[in-house]
Amino acid sequence: MILAVDQGTTGTTCLLVDDELNVHGRGYAELPQHFPQPGWVEHDPNEIWQSVREAMVGLDGYDTVAIANQRETTLLWDRTTGEPVSNAIVWQDRRTADRCAQLDADFIRARTGLVPDPYFSATKLEWLLARHEGDLAFGTVDTWLVWKLTNGAVHATDETNASRTLLYSLETLDWDDELLDLFSIPREVLPEIRPSGAEFGDGIRGIAGDQQAALFAAGGAAKATYGTGAFVLVETDGDPGHGVLRTAAARLPGEQPRRALEGAVFVTGAAVQWLRDGLSLIDDPRMAEELATELSDNGGVYFVPALTGLGSPHWRSDARGLITGITRGTTHAHLARAALEATAYQVRDVLETMPAVELLRADGGMTGNRWLMQFQADVLGVPVETAREAEQTALGAALLALGERRASPAGELFEPRMSRDQAETLYSGWRAALERTLLSVS
Ligand code: ADP
Repeated sequence: MILAVDQGTTGTTCLLVDDELNVHGRGYAELPQHFPQPGWVEHDPNEIWQSVREAMVGLDGYDTVAIANQRETTLLWDRTTGEPVSNAIVWQDRRTADRCAQLDADFIRARTGLVPDPYFSATKLEWLLARHEGDLAFGTVDTWLVWKLTNGAVHATDETNASRTLLYSLETLDWDDELLDLFSIPREVLPEIRPSGAEFGDGIRGIAGDQQAALFAAGGAAKATYGTGAFVLVETDGDPGHGVLRTAAARLPGEQPRRALEGAVFVTGAAVQWLRDGLSLIDDPRMAEELATELSDNGGVYFVPALTGLGSPHWRSDARGLITGITRGTTHAHLARAALEATAYQVRDVLETMPAVELLRADGGMTGNRWLMQFQADVLGVPVETAREAEQTALGAALLALGERRASPAGELFEPRMSRDQAETLYSGWRAALERTLLSVS
Protein backbone atom coordinates (compact mmCIF):
# COMPACT_ATOMS: atom_id res chain seq x y z
CA MET A 1 0.00 0.00 0.00
CA ILE A 2 1.05 3.53 -0.80
CA LEU A 3 0.01 6.70 0.95
CA ALA A 4 -0.26 9.27 -1.86
CA VAL A 5 -0.27 12.85 -0.63
CA ASP A 6 -1.56 15.72 -2.80
CA GLN A 7 -0.59 18.90 -0.99
CA GLY A 8 -2.57 21.66 -2.76
CA THR A 9 -3.17 25.36 -2.33
CA THR A 10 -6.47 25.10 -0.50
CA GLY A 11 -6.00 21.72 1.16
CA THR A 12 -4.29 18.35 1.36
CA THR A 13 -5.76 15.12 -0.01
CA CYS A 14 -4.38 11.73 0.97
CA LEU A 15 -5.24 8.45 -0.76
CA LEU A 16 -4.40 4.98 0.42
CA VAL A 17 -3.73 3.10 -2.83
CA ASP A 18 -2.78 -0.48 -3.68
CA ASP A 19 -0.55 -1.55 -6.57
CA GLU A 20 -3.56 -1.79 -8.92
CA LEU A 21 -4.39 1.85 -8.03
CA ASN A 22 -7.54 0.84 -6.15
CA VAL A 23 -8.32 3.43 -3.50
CA HIS A 24 -8.75 1.98 0.01
CA GLY A 25 -9.05 5.17 2.01
CA ARG A 26 -9.23 8.93 1.66
CA GLY A 27 -8.46 11.87 3.88
CA TYR A 28 -8.71 15.61 3.39
CA ALA A 29 -7.75 18.62 5.45
CA GLU A 30 -8.08 22.28 4.58
CA LEU A 31 -5.11 24.61 4.47
CA PRO A 32 -5.58 28.29 5.34
CA GLN A 33 -4.11 30.99 3.13
CA HIS A 34 -2.97 34.29 4.58
CA PHE A 35 -3.25 37.63 2.76
CA PRO A 36 -1.13 40.11 4.73
CA GLN A 37 -1.20 42.79 2.00
CA PRO A 38 -2.87 43.25 -1.39
CA GLY A 39 -1.17 40.92 -3.88
CA TRP A 40 0.54 38.89 -1.14
CA VAL A 41 -0.45 35.25 -0.55
CA GLU A 42 1.17 33.13 2.16
CA HIS A 43 0.95 29.78 3.93
CA ASP A 44 2.28 29.01 7.39
CA PRO A 45 4.75 26.10 6.83
CA ASN A 46 3.68 24.54 10.12
CA GLU A 47 0.07 24.68 8.95
CA ILE A 48 1.10 22.94 5.70
CA TRP A 49 2.66 20.14 7.73
CA GLN A 50 -0.33 20.08 10.07
CA SER A 51 -2.79 19.73 7.16
CA VAL A 52 -0.79 16.76 5.83
CA ARG A 53 -0.82 15.16 9.27
CA GLU A 54 -4.58 15.67 9.55
CA ALA A 55 -5.29 14.30 6.06
CA MET A 56 -3.33 11.14 6.99
CA VAL A 57 -5.38 10.40 10.09
CA GLY A 58 -7.01 6.97 9.97
CA LEU A 59 -5.06 5.82 6.91
CA ASP A 60 -2.89 2.89 7.96
CA GLY A 61 -1.10 -0.10 6.53
CA TYR A 62 1.13 1.64 4.00
CA ASP A 63 4.85 1.17 3.60
CA THR A 64 5.58 3.99 1.16
CA VAL A 65 4.70 7.67 1.08
CA ALA A 66 4.51 9.48 -2.28
CA ILE A 67 4.05 13.23 -2.67
CA ALA A 68 2.54 15.53 -5.27
CA ASN A 69 2.38 19.19 -4.40
CA GLN A 70 1.42 22.75 -5.29
CA ARG A 71 4.37 24.05 -7.25
CA GLU A 72 6.58 27.16 -6.98
CA THR A 73 5.51 28.00 -3.40
CA THR A 74 8.70 29.02 -1.60
CA LEU A 75 9.81 28.14 1.94
CA LEU A 76 12.90 29.04 3.93
CA TRP A 77 13.85 27.51 7.26
CA ASP A 78 16.70 27.33 9.73
CA ARG A 79 18.71 24.14 9.27
CA THR A 80 19.69 23.98 12.92
CA THR A 81 16.31 24.46 14.55
CA GLY A 82 14.18 23.27 11.61
CA GLU A 83 11.97 26.32 12.20
CA PRO A 84 10.63 28.34 9.25
CA VAL A 85 12.08 31.86 9.20
CA SER A 86 8.80 33.24 7.85
CA ASN A 87 5.63 32.24 6.10
CA ALA A 88 5.84 30.47 2.74
CA ILE A 89 5.33 32.72 -0.28
CA VAL A 90 2.60 31.06 -2.35
CA TRP A 91 2.74 30.74 -6.15
CA GLN A 92 -0.13 33.27 -6.47
CA ASP A 93 1.84 35.98 -4.66
CA ARG A 94 2.68 39.03 -6.83
CA ARG A 95 5.05 40.93 -4.50
CA THR A 96 8.04 40.46 -6.82
CA ALA A 97 6.32 41.80 -9.97
CA ASP A 98 8.60 44.86 -10.17
CA ARG A 99 11.72 42.72 -9.85
CA CYS A 100 10.46 40.44 -12.64
CA ALA A 101 9.88 43.40 -14.93
CA GLN A 102 13.66 44.12 -14.79
CA LEU A 103 14.66 40.63 -15.94
CA ASP A 104 15.82 39.68 -19.43
CA ALA A 105 12.95 37.53 -20.70
CA ASP A 106 14.95 35.96 -23.54
CA PHE A 107 17.75 34.85 -21.22
CA ILE A 108 15.30 33.42 -18.68
CA ARG A 109 13.34 31.60 -21.37
CA ALA A 110 16.43 30.13 -23.01
CA ARG A 111 17.85 28.88 -19.71
CA THR A 112 14.75 27.71 -17.88
CA GLY A 113 11.93 27.31 -20.41
CA LEU A 114 9.91 29.69 -18.24
CA VAL A 115 9.05 33.40 -18.31
CA PRO A 116 10.14 36.03 -15.76
CA ASP A 117 7.00 36.08 -13.65
CA PRO A 118 6.46 36.34 -9.87
CA TYR A 119 4.68 32.97 -10.16
CA PHE A 120 8.04 31.11 -10.06
CA SER A 121 10.24 30.63 -6.98
CA ALA A 122 13.49 32.51 -7.64
CA THR A 123 12.37 36.07 -6.98
CA LYS A 124 10.42 34.90 -3.92
CA LEU A 125 13.54 33.24 -2.53
CA GLU A 126 15.61 36.32 -3.35
CA TRP A 127 13.08 38.40 -1.42
CA LEU A 128 13.25 36.08 1.61
CA LEU A 129 17.06 35.82 1.61
CA ALA A 130 17.36 39.61 1.59
CA ARG A 131 15.48 39.64 4.88
CA HIS A 132 16.82 36.63 6.78
CA GLU A 133 20.23 35.37 7.85
CA GLY A 134 21.67 32.18 9.26
CA ASP A 135 22.21 28.60 8.23
CA LEU A 136 19.18 28.50 5.96
CA ALA A 137 17.48 25.84 3.83
CA PHE A 138 15.21 26.58 0.88
CA GLY A 139 12.53 24.27 -0.31
CA THR A 140 9.37 24.01 -2.31
CA VAL A 141 6.50 22.25 -0.52
CA ASP A 142 7.76 18.74 -1.39
CA THR A 143 11.17 19.54 0.10
CA TRP A 144 9.60 20.83 3.30
CA LEU A 145 7.45 17.70 3.66
CA VAL A 146 10.44 15.39 3.10
CA TRP A 147 12.42 17.40 5.67
CA LYS A 148 9.58 17.01 8.19
CA LEU A 149 8.99 13.33 7.40
CA THR A 150 12.71 12.54 7.84
CA ASN A 151 13.21 14.81 10.87
CA GLY A 152 15.61 16.99 8.98
CA ALA A 153 17.77 14.16 7.65
CA VAL A 154 16.97 14.74 3.96
CA HIS A 155 17.03 18.07 2.11
CA ALA A 156 16.01 17.14 -1.43
CA THR A 157 13.59 17.96 -4.22
CA ASP A 158 12.63 16.30 -7.48
CA GLU A 159 13.32 17.48 -11.02
CA THR A 160 9.77 18.60 -11.76
CA ASN A 161 9.64 20.90 -8.73
CA ALA A 162 13.17 22.16 -9.42
CA SER A 163 12.12 23.04 -12.97
CA ARG A 164 9.58 25.56 -11.61
CA THR A 165 12.05 27.60 -9.59
CA LEU A 166 13.66 29.68 -12.38
CA LEU A 167 17.00 28.42 -10.99
CA TYR A 168 17.21 25.06 -12.75
CA SER A 169 18.67 24.26 -16.14
CA LEU A 170 16.76 21.75 -18.26
CA GLU A 171 20.04 21.11 -20.10
CA THR A 172 22.42 20.32 -17.23
CA LEU A 173 19.66 19.02 -14.89
CA ASP A 174 21.24 21.06 -12.12
CA TRP A 175 20.97 24.42 -10.42
CA ASP A 176 22.38 26.98 -12.86
CA ASP A 177 25.29 29.10 -11.55
CA GLU A 178 24.45 32.12 -13.68
CA LEU A 179 20.88 32.12 -12.46
CA LEU A 180 22.04 31.68 -8.87
CA ASP A 181 24.28 34.72 -9.38
CA LEU A 182 21.49 36.71 -10.94
CA PHE A 183 19.25 36.17 -7.91
CA SER A 184 22.12 36.21 -5.34
CA ILE A 185 21.31 32.73 -4.14
CA PRO A 186 24.07 30.71 -2.43
CA ARG A 187 24.14 27.06 -3.51
CA GLU A 188 24.25 25.95 0.15
CA VAL A 189 20.61 26.86 0.72
CA LEU A 190 19.41 24.67 -2.16
CA PRO A 191 18.22 21.07 -1.89
CA GLU A 192 19.74 18.16 -3.73
CA ILE A 193 17.82 17.24 -6.92
CA ARG A 194 16.66 13.67 -7.63
CA PRO A 195 14.55 12.07 -10.38
CA SER A 196 10.84 12.04 -9.49
CA GLY A 197 10.69 8.27 -9.07
CA ALA A 198 13.70 8.15 -6.71
CA GLU A 199 13.89 7.39 -2.99
CA PHE A 200 13.70 10.52 -0.84
CA GLY A 201 14.20 8.89 2.52
CA ASP A 202 13.21 5.78 4.36
CA GLY A 203 9.78 4.80 2.95
CA ILE A 204 9.44 7.95 0.83
CA ARG A 205 9.47 7.33 -2.91
CA GLY A 206 7.93 9.31 -5.76
CA ILE A 207 7.69 13.10 -5.76
CA ALA A 208 6.36 15.41 -8.46
CA GLY A 209 4.75 18.80 -8.86
CA ASP A 210 0.97 18.42 -9.13
CA GLN A 211 0.64 19.01 -12.88
CA GLN A 212 3.52 16.69 -13.72
CA ALA A 213 2.08 14.04 -11.38
CA ALA A 214 -1.25 14.20 -13.25
CA LEU A 215 0.68 14.01 -16.53
CA PHE A 216 2.46 10.88 -15.30
CA ALA A 217 -0.93 9.33 -14.50
CA ALA A 218 -2.01 10.02 -18.08
CA GLY A 219 0.59 7.46 -19.13
CA GLY A 220 2.19 9.44 -21.94
CA ALA A 221 -0.98 10.96 -23.37
CA ALA A 222 -1.49 14.72 -23.41
CA LYS A 223 -3.50 15.82 -20.41
CA ALA A 224 -5.73 18.72 -19.50
CA THR A 225 -6.83 19.36 -15.95
CA TYR A 226 -10.08 21.32 -15.86
CA GLY A 227 -10.66 23.21 -12.63
CA THR A 228 -10.71 26.90 -11.76
CA GLY A 229 -8.34 27.25 -14.69
CA ALA A 230 -6.93 24.61 -17.01
CA PHE A 231 -3.43 23.15 -17.23
CA VAL A 232 -2.51 21.47 -20.48
CA LEU A 233 0.67 19.36 -20.58
CA VAL A 234 2.14 17.38 -23.44
CA GLU A 235 5.24 15.26 -22.98
CA THR A 236 7.69 16.06 -25.76
CA ASP A 237 11.28 17.11 -26.36
CA GLY A 238 10.09 19.56 -29.00
CA ASP A 239 10.54 23.28 -28.70
CA PRO A 240 7.71 25.30 -27.26
CA GLY A 241 5.54 27.27 -29.61
CA HIS A 242 4.74 30.83 -28.69
CA GLY A 243 3.26 31.31 -25.24
CA VAL A 244 3.79 27.93 -23.61
CA LEU A 245 6.35 26.86 -21.02
CA ARG A 246 8.96 24.14 -21.16
CA THR A 247 9.26 22.08 -18.02
CA ALA A 248 10.63 18.81 -16.65
CA ALA A 249 8.33 15.79 -16.78
CA ALA A 250 8.58 13.04 -14.17
CA ARG A 251 10.98 10.17 -14.83
CA LEU A 252 11.74 6.94 -13.08
CA PRO A 253 15.30 6.24 -11.90
CA GLY A 254 17.42 5.04 -14.81
CA GLU A 255 15.20 6.64 -17.46
CA GLN A 256 16.46 9.43 -19.70
CA PRO A 257 15.38 12.96 -18.71
CA ARG A 258 11.89 13.79 -19.95
CA ARG A 259 10.37 17.12 -20.77
CA ALA A 260 6.94 18.56 -21.31
CA LEU A 261 5.32 21.65 -22.73
CA GLU A 262 2.82 23.34 -20.48
CA GLY A 263 0.07 25.85 -21.07
CA ALA A 264 -1.92 27.50 -18.31
CA VAL A 265 -5.39 28.92 -18.98
CA PHE A 266 -6.43 31.13 -16.07
CA VAL A 267 -10.22 31.07 -16.30
CA THR A 268 -12.30 27.99 -17.18
CA GLY A 269 -14.37 26.75 -14.21
CA ALA A 270 -13.96 30.22 -12.71
CA ALA A 271 -16.13 31.60 -15.55
CA VAL A 272 -18.89 29.21 -14.51
CA GLN A 273 -18.42 30.34 -10.90
CA TRP A 274 -18.75 33.93 -12.06
CA LEU A 275 -22.06 33.15 -13.79
CA ARG A 276 -23.21 31.86 -10.42
CA ASP A 277 -21.67 34.37 -8.01
CA GLY A 278 -21.25 37.49 -10.13
CA LEU A 279 -24.37 37.34 -12.28
CA SER A 280 -26.65 34.94 -10.32
CA LEU A 281 -27.55 33.29 -13.65
CA ILE A 282 -27.18 29.75 -12.27
CA ASP A 283 -27.41 28.23 -8.80
CA ASP A 284 -24.80 25.56 -9.28
CA PRO A 285 -21.97 24.92 -11.78
CA ARG A 286 -23.74 21.69 -12.76
CA MET A 287 -26.67 23.73 -14.14
CA ALA A 288 -24.40 24.93 -16.94
CA GLU A 289 -24.57 21.50 -18.51
CA GLU A 290 -28.39 21.39 -18.54
CA LEU A 291 -28.56 24.88 -20.04
CA ALA A 292 -25.98 24.13 -22.73
CA THR A 293 -27.81 20.93 -23.67
CA GLU A 294 -31.14 22.77 -24.04
CA LEU A 295 -29.78 24.84 -26.92
CA SER A 296 -29.33 23.46 -30.43
CA ASP A 297 -26.44 25.89 -31.09
CA ASN A 298 -24.58 28.77 -29.48
CA GLY A 299 -26.72 31.42 -31.21
CA GLY A 300 -23.53 33.20 -32.31
CA VAL A 301 -22.69 34.19 -28.72
CA TYR A 302 -19.02 34.00 -27.65
CA PHE A 303 -17.62 34.75 -24.22
CA VAL A 304 -13.90 35.44 -23.86
CA PRO A 305 -13.41 34.96 -20.11
CA ALA A 306 -10.30 37.10 -19.69
CA LEU A 307 -11.54 37.88 -16.18
CA THR A 308 -8.00 37.89 -14.74
CA GLY A 309 -6.18 38.58 -17.98
CA LEU A 310 -5.21 35.87 -20.45
CA GLY A 311 -2.60 33.17 -19.74
CA SER A 312 -1.22 30.78 -22.35
CA PRO A 313 -0.68 31.31 -25.16
CA HIS A 314 -1.28 35.09 -24.96
CA TRP A 315 0.16 36.16 -21.59
CA ARG A 316 -1.78 39.42 -21.50
CA SER A 317 -2.45 40.27 -17.88
CA ASP A 318 -4.14 43.50 -19.01
CA ALA A 319 -6.81 41.78 -21.16
CA ARG A 320 -10.39 41.85 -19.86
CA GLY A 321 -13.47 39.76 -20.62
CA LEU A 322 -15.74 40.21 -23.62
CA ILE A 323 -19.11 38.82 -24.68
CA THR A 324 -19.95 39.15 -28.38
CA GLY A 325 -22.93 38.38 -30.62
CA ILE A 326 -25.67 39.25 -28.11
CA THR A 327 -29.19 39.69 -29.57
CA ARG A 328 -32.73 40.01 -28.20
CA GLY A 329 -32.84 36.24 -28.36
CA THR A 330 -29.84 35.76 -26.05
CA THR A 331 -30.65 34.11 -22.72
CA HIS A 332 -28.78 32.94 -19.65
CA ALA A 333 -28.50 29.57 -21.40
CA HIS A 334 -26.43 31.15 -24.17
CA LEU A 335 -24.06 32.67 -21.63
CA ALA A 336 -23.71 29.37 -19.80
CA ARG A 337 -23.03 27.59 -23.05
CA ALA A 338 -20.58 30.27 -24.15
CA ALA A 339 -18.65 29.84 -20.86
CA LEU A 340 -18.36 26.08 -21.42
CA GLU A 341 -17.47 26.50 -25.09
CA ALA A 342 -14.77 29.01 -24.09
CA THR A 343 -13.15 26.35 -21.91
CA ALA A 344 -12.84 24.02 -24.89
CA TYR A 345 -11.64 26.76 -27.26
CA GLN A 346 -8.96 27.93 -24.82
CA VAL A 347 -7.62 24.39 -24.44
CA ARG A 348 -7.48 24.17 -28.23
CA ASP A 349 -5.65 27.53 -28.39
CA VAL A 350 -2.93 26.01 -26.20
CA LEU A 351 -2.81 22.68 -28.05
CA GLU A 352 -2.48 24.54 -31.36
CA THR A 353 0.98 25.68 -30.21
CA MET A 354 2.11 22.11 -29.40
CA PRO A 355 2.82 18.98 -31.45
CA ALA A 356 -0.42 17.27 -32.59
CA VAL A 357 -1.97 14.91 -30.04
CA GLU A 358 -3.98 11.75 -30.74
CA LEU A 359 -5.87 11.63 -27.48
CA LEU A 360 -6.48 14.09 -24.67
CA ARG A 361 -6.68 12.75 -21.13
CA ALA A 362 -8.99 14.95 -19.02
CA ASP A 363 -9.21 15.28 -15.26
CA GLY A 364 -10.39 17.85 -12.70
CA GLY A 365 -13.77 19.04 -11.41
CA MET A 366 -15.19 20.15 -14.77
CA THR A 367 -14.82 16.69 -16.31
CA GLY A 368 -18.08 15.83 -14.53
CA ASN A 369 -19.65 17.93 -17.29
CA ARG A 370 -20.24 15.40 -20.10
CA TRP A 371 -21.48 18.05 -22.51
CA LEU A 372 -18.17 19.87 -22.16
CA MET A 373 -16.13 16.70 -22.68
CA GLN A 374 -18.06 15.91 -25.89
CA PHE A 375 -17.71 19.49 -27.09
CA GLN A 376 -13.96 19.40 -26.35
CA ALA A 377 -13.57 16.27 -28.48
CA ASP A 378 -15.63 17.94 -31.25
CA VAL A 379 -13.64 21.18 -31.22
CA LEU A 380 -10.30 19.37 -31.22
CA GLY A 381 -11.28 16.60 -33.61
CA VAL A 382 -9.46 14.33 -31.17
CA PRO A 383 -10.92 11.81 -28.66
CA VAL A 384 -11.10 12.94 -25.05
CA GLU A 385 -10.85 10.37 -22.29
CA THR A 386 -11.75 11.07 -18.68
CA ALA A 387 -10.12 9.25 -15.78
CA ARG A 388 -11.95 6.80 -13.52
CA GLU A 389 -10.64 8.47 -10.40
CA ALA A 390 -10.89 12.24 -9.93
CA GLU A 391 -7.63 12.48 -7.93
CA GLN A 392 -5.20 11.99 -10.81
CA THR A 393 -2.53 14.04 -9.08
CA ALA A 394 -2.33 11.65 -6.13
CA LEU A 395 -2.49 8.63 -8.45
CA GLY A 396 0.43 9.99 -10.46
CA ALA A 397 2.51 10.16 -7.28
CA ALA A 398 1.42 6.59 -6.43
CA LEU A 399 2.51 5.36 -9.88
CA LEU A 400 5.90 7.01 -9.36
CA ALA A 401 6.22 5.21 -6.03
CA LEU A 402 5.33 1.94 -7.76
CA GLY A 403 7.98 2.63 -10.38
CA GLU A 404 5.46 2.00 -13.15
CA ARG A 405 5.03 4.08 -16.26
CA ARG A 406 1.43 3.46 -17.30
CA ALA A 407 -1.90 5.24 -17.49
CA SER A 408 -4.23 5.17 -14.51
CA PRO A 409 -7.62 3.51 -15.20
CA ALA A 410 -9.74 5.33 -17.78
CA GLY A 411 -13.26 6.63 -17.26
CA GLU A 412 -15.29 7.50 -20.34
CA LEU A 413 -14.17 8.02 -23.95
CA PHE A 414 -15.68 10.89 -25.97
CA GLU A 415 -15.13 10.51 -29.73
CA PRO A 416 -15.48 13.55 -32.00
CA ARG A 417 -18.96 13.55 -33.56
CA MET A 418 -19.29 17.00 -35.09
CA SER A 419 -18.32 17.55 -38.74
CA ARG A 420 -14.91 19.20 -39.13
CA ASP A 421 -16.53 22.04 -41.07
CA GLN A 422 -18.90 22.84 -38.27
CA ALA A 423 -16.13 22.61 -35.69
CA GLU A 424 -13.88 24.95 -37.67
CA THR A 425 -16.71 27.45 -38.16
CA LEU A 426 -17.32 27.53 -34.41
CA TYR A 427 -13.62 27.84 -33.64
CA SER A 428 -13.17 30.72 -36.09
CA GLY A 429 -16.06 32.49 -34.35
CA TRP A 430 -14.07 32.16 -31.12
CA ARG A 431 -10.87 33.40 -32.77
CA ALA A 432 -12.73 36.48 -34.00
CA ALA A 433 -13.99 37.25 -30.49
CA LEU A 434 -10.51 36.65 -29.08
CA GLU A 435 -9.02 38.99 -31.67
CA ARG A 436 -11.35 41.75 -30.52
CA THR A 437 -10.38 41.14 -26.89
CA LEU A 438 -6.69 41.44 -27.75
CA LEU A 439 -7.27 44.49 -29.96
CA SER A 440 -8.86 46.32 -27.07
CA VAL A 441 -5.59 46.11 -25.09
CA SER A 442 -2.91 46.46 -27.76
P1 ADP B 1 -9.71 23.48 -8.42
O1 ADP B 1 -8.90 22.24 -8.14
O2 ADP B 1 -9.11 24.43 -9.39
O3 ADP B 1 -10.23 24.15 -7.18
P2 ADP B 1 -11.82 21.60 -9.22
O4 ADP B 1 -11.10 20.59 -10.03
O5 ADP B 1 -12.30 21.22 -7.87
O6 ADP B 1 -11.02 22.98 -9.19
O7 ADP B 1 -13.09 22.08 -10.08
C1 ADP B 1 -13.90 23.12 -9.62
C2 ADP B 1 -14.25 24.08 -10.75
O8 ADP B 1 -14.96 23.37 -11.76
C3 ADP B 1 -15.12 25.24 -10.32
O9 ADP B 1 -14.61 26.42 -10.91
C4 ADP B 1 -16.52 24.94 -10.89
O10 ADP B 1 -17.14 26.11 -11.34
C5 ADP B 1 -16.21 24.02 -12.05
N1 ADP B 1 -17.20 22.94 -12.21
C6 ADP B 1 -17.40 21.90 -11.39
N2 ADP B 1 -18.36 21.08 -11.86
C7 ADP B 1 -18.77 21.62 -13.03
C8 ADP B 1 -19.75 21.27 -14.01
N3 ADP B 1 -20.47 20.14 -13.89
N4 ADP B 1 -19.90 22.09 -15.06
C9 ADP B 1 -19.16 23.20 -15.20
N5 ADP B 1 -18.22 23.59 -14.32
C10 ADP B 1 -18.03 22.82 -13.25
